[in-house]
Amino acid sequence: MQKKLFVISGCSGVGKGTVINEFMKKNSDNFILSVSCTTRNPRAGETDGVNYFFITKEEFEANIAQGAFLEYAKYADNYYGTKKDFISEKFEQGYNIILEIETQGALQVKNKMPEAVLIFIAPPNIRELENRLRGRHTEDEATIQKRLAQVKIELERSGQYDYTVINDSVERAVEEIEKIVKNNI
Ligand code: 5GP
Repeated sequence: MQKKLFVISGCSGVGKGTVINEFMKKNSDNFILSVSCTTRNPRAGETDGVNYFFITKEEFEANIAQGAFLEYAKYADNYYGTKKDFISEKFEQGYNIILEIETQGALQVKNKMPEAVLIFIAPPNIRELENRLRGRHTEDEATIQKRLAQVKIELERSGQYDYTVINDSVERAVEEIEKIVKNNI
């Protein structure tokens, strides 16, 4: 049976990483999380080939020129992209695939593969997200304003997604994603 591609995006600070990790813990038998290529530097604890394939800007641009990406985008001054090879290999191995990517890339996927299912994880409300960003005390006001402007752009693009899941509780959000997945495979 043809396997499916699910794309999950969400505003920064919405907790989508936690939701996706919980989903994967419960569904790793027939789902695999795609490993993207990026030009950003690895963070502490990240491993090449596991979290990302960390490549240089030159390598990334050569891959763009060869048409090797299913989708790619520039985000916060770095490139991020999904290799076509990676996806076809995982389909051949019999997996359904989850892509955790930002909204520009997600819409490219939908254009090329209309059968892909796009899921957007949204905050319960913008005010709460703002409080959470401020509560971290890690960003200055200008950065917070930039993040919030980006959140608004992402929420607008989410109108083109197939589903929006509100992350009011991780457990509930995971259950909703499981239902969406069941209805689409
Ligand atoms: P981070 O640098 O925090 O790992 O990721 C930054 C953003 O890039 C996140 O929104 C993440 O979902 C997105 N991202 C990760 N991999 C890809 C990819 O292959 N393509 C696109 N378009 N976005 C990606």
